[in-house]
Amino acid sequence: MNSSVQKLLDRIDTKRDEVTALTQDLVRIPTVNPPGDAYEACAHFIGERLAKKGFAVEYVRAIGAPGDSDSHPRTNVVARWQGQTPGECVHFNSHIDVVEAGSGWTYEPFGGQVANGRVYGRGTCDMKGGLASSIIACEALIESGLPIPGALEISGTVDEESGGFAGVGYLAERGYFSKPRVHHVIIPEPLGVDRICLGHRGVWWGEVETRGRIAHGSMPFLGDSAINHMSAFIHLLETQLQPRLQGRKTAEPVEPPGARVSTLNINSIHGGQVEQHYANDERGWPTAQTPAPVVAHSCRTVLDRRFIAEENLEAVKQEIIDMLDELKRTRPGFDYGIRDIMSFVPTATPKDAPVVDATARAIARVLGRQPSYIASPGTYDQKHIVRTGKLHDCIAYGPGILDLAHQPDEYVGIQELVDSAKIMALASLDLTGWTRLNPA
Ligand SMILES: [Zn+2]
Repeated sequence: MNSSVQKLLDRIDTKRDEVTALTQDLVRIPTVNPPGDAYEACAHFIGERLAKKGFAVEYVRAIGAPGDSDSHPRTNVVARWQGQTPGECVHFNSHIDVVEAGSGWTYEPFGGQVANGRVYGRGTCDMKGGLASSIIACEALIESGLPIPGALEISGTVDEESGGFAGVGYLAERGYFSKPRVHHVIIPEPLGVDRICLGHRGVWWGEVETRGRIAHGSMPFLGDSAINHMSAFIHLLETQLQPRLQGRKTAEPVEPPGARVSTLNINSIHGGQVEQHYANDERGWPTAQTPAPVVAHSCRTVLDRRFIAEENLEAVKQEIIDMLDELKRTRPGFDYGIRDIMSFVPTATPKDAPVVDATARAIARVLGRQPSYIASPGTYDQKHIVRTGKLHDCIAYGPGILDLAHQPDEYVGIQELVDSAKIMALASLDLTGWTRLNPA
């Protein structure tokens, strides 16, 4: 191995405490989403650190985007370090938002405690540990004094957990994830230190409403219950569609393997008047207002259909519309409405793409083993980079165990933080063009 490359790796080894402390500092900023707390503080924490290291730093607030308000500004940070000579730009994109802590913790959720060679806390694994590794990787590259061509970019973006529309989506629409500015993107999501995530399944969220006729609840035969109609629809989903989806297998390496088929989740259902949480007082009277007795004239459900690369979005929707039309033909009084809430088609970066190749070689060098290639069951910000930014050289790669994301006692291993920082730094040497200009 080139001796300057070995020096770079040794330098990252000396940053073990630094990457740990940086992860702790980030976890202690409680960027909980929803509602989107402390984004401004977190973006500035990252930006001020990188400005000191020679990055040009921009703060981009997603004014007018969903969720943005003066009390909860959607503030993103984008930092760029420009090399002295022409080359390509490698961008590390991490979301700064985390989900709520929830219950069941034995560690302080926002304490960033270190124990057992790990940092514990909400967001350690998903994905402030990955953000810290990418910052340390870039700082080590800059401090090494190697003549790195091209540019290095780091962004901390908001709202990934709620779709990323004010984060990567907003930035992608403004050219931050397109050529000629950026050529390669690594998203340090917690996929594991030796796994490269090439893309994700597709998603369609839709709302279906069944309609009936209102009447007095004591004489339901005078009305027509939308809830009964919905129940007939859900029966078809369960007995026909879900078994059919189980048989629809993808060739993509989706992890976990249970997600290598198409799936449908019924996210929510509501029919009739809004119910309260009832309790009875000492007289036996309900403590909350009771609804009036009516036959439900409307029932709504939100469907979450995840589809595989071998399917297409139009067919996914049509399959559900066909079932609803069948009910309309066969079930007296059945009527429905359907509307899209959100959809993204599957993405898959080819295995021979530059960012995949460079990361695979870096994994082999640092860990001494070949990577495994996976795809994600759910979407993440790669969808905006591919669809809006039209940039296809994008992967997710970062430290942490995916299963721990969103769980109590979430953690990231400190050795993994160091190893993935080395891998990100080596991949950047290749992708910016340094390796080609400085053969061993
Ligand atoms: Zn994440």
